Amino acid sequence: MLETEKQFTLSNYKLGLEYAREQDKNDPLSTFRDQFHIPKNKEGNDWLYFTGNSLGLQPKSTQKYIQQELDDWANFGVEGHFEAKNPWMPYHEFLTEAMAKVVGAKPIEVVIMNTLTTNLHLLMVSFYQPTKTKYKIVIESDAFPSDRYAVQTQLEFHGYDAKDGVIEWKPRQGEELLNIEDLETILEEQGDEIALLLIGGVNYYTGQYLDIKKIAELGHAKNCMVGIDLAHGVGNIKPELHDSGVDFAAWCTYKYLNSGPGSLGGLFVHEKHAHNKKLKRFAGWWSHNKSTRFNMRQPLDVIPGAEGWQLSNPPILSMAAIKASLDMFNEVGMDAIREKSEKLTGYFEFLINELNNDKIKIITPSNPKERGCQLSIQVKDADKNLHKKLTEANIITDWREPDVIRCAPIPLYNTFEDVYRMTETLRTLL
Ligand SMILES: *Cc1c(COP(=O)(O)O)cnc(C)c1O
Repeated sequence: MLETEKQFTLSNYKLGLEYAREQDKNDPLSTFRDQFHIPKNKEGNDWLYFTGNSLGLQPKSTQKYIQQELDDWANFGVEGHFEAKNPWMPYHEFLTEAMAKVVGAKPIEVVIMNTLTTNLHLLMVSFYQPTKTKYKIVIESDAFPSDRYAVQTQLEFHGYDAKDGVIEWKPRQGEELLNIEDLETILEEQGDEIALLLIGGVNYYTGQYLDIKKIAELGHAKNCMVGIDLAHGVGNIKPELHDSGVDFAAWCTYKYLNSGPGSLGGLFVHEKHAHNKKLKRFAGWWSHNKSTRFNMRQPLDVIPGAEGWQLSNPPILSMAAIKASLDMFNEVGMDAIREKSEKLTGYFEFLINELNNDKIKIITPSNPKERGCQLSIQVKDADKNLHKKLTEANIITDWREPDVIRCAPIPLYNTFEDVYRMTETLRTLL
């Protein structure tokens, strides 16, 4: 099928509950909803859950995966490192291939470890090497606070003033979205002073999916390192990290990857850096050559590729939850997930536009190529009450200051009927 035929333009959708139900009936992924625990309200009805971008729902299989490790710990104690059904010593390796597929990377480029902000810091230790004249860092003006604090404190750690060292890529006056031409201008004018670009691949607030390949090209043309925060990208869009050429990326797995609150994050280091032993880094015993790790009194011999950024032996219970999720993602594949996602979010957009109410406005790009599944609905006069009333109607969305309701229909467990009922409630409330 041609790419253009595959795109669901607004005119493909129809109004009415019947249409929504028909779409659910024809949905090849419809059976997956049943593989998740859907939270219920006091009356025992399913919530309409649209916050999988904040904390993904629990796959029913997760319990089994974690129970396996609890049993093996009970039965084997320390021997579980080798004797467990999934031996703990190489446990992270069981996740690598599936994780790499989800982000479009090679296995040597990916590892599951630590949490997102920790990983950003570790990656900046290696890829933010400022000099007296080239030390500035570009972030989005509306970067997630944790990323901003990480960048500010890295600058200060190296002895620079964060006020002077952070360059913000801002939307134009009166606009909400970022324009790549403005990044180009920043790099043309200040590229010689910029050491690093650290950009959210999908912005947490607007839902805008940026062209990370283009960002990498622009940054590299000015000898800047390029890192991407994929917290809102992983499991949502197909970032094709290897082909994008970005130097590094990091993400969490508890949003779109459904691995549970505070679960471990992922890290990507491009293959071109895999064997560079000159890169500075903070190391631990898990960075070291696996074959001599337990000889203990060895000089550091860093593992090539992403694994060489590990520090510690990892928490297996969290990894078990990630394995449960990745096994499901691998079974479905990101192509099928994206296909449904574009259709479901397109339908959502269609219904909101049909409400034709000037109290609300979608600020997320309408081009499916420039967004994931989230729609950010800006509410006029920042009327937070609308969000409150949605919650009272058992529709779970989130409010982000100053004036946005974020709403993410998740292709693995949200239905067309969910979206229909959500927008009908919105109609009543407006
Ligand atoms: C969710 C999110 C985080 C959270 O970081 P943790 O270290 O996992 O707490 C950071 N950055 C972005 C862009 C996020 O969306």
